[in-house]
Amino acid sequence: MKCSRSIIRRSMLYKTKVEYGDYTMNHVEGCSHGCKYPCYAMMMAKRFGKVKSYEDWCKPALVANTLELLDAEIPRLKKRSIMFNFALLQTHSCMAMMMFVR
Ligand code: SF4
Repeated sequence: MKCSRSIIRRSMLYKTKVEYGDYTMNHVEGCSHGCKYPCYAMMMAKRFGKVKSYEDWCKPALVANTLELLDAEIPRLKKRSIMFNFALLQTHSCMAMMMFVR
């Protein structure tokens, strides 16, 4: 995925209600794949005012301060699991990865 823009966020990890993780994060806003079927992530981003249109969504922005935020936020977690959500350019599909914090 090619990111030509970057943004700064105030936090990275947020609680999730999915059964396979306690927290989730996304270090990229948007996705350049532009899948033709309705993209749930885009619909949520649009609903919460993160992007205005599908064209905006297709111009992803990297969260430039991801590592600094994780350095500050991960030590506060004990025995939790974090879901990483991202899209892969090669497979044109959304991927998720889980990390456990001890
Ligand atoms: S790869 Fe995933 S996030 Fe990207 S457009 Fe397709 S469904 Fe949306």
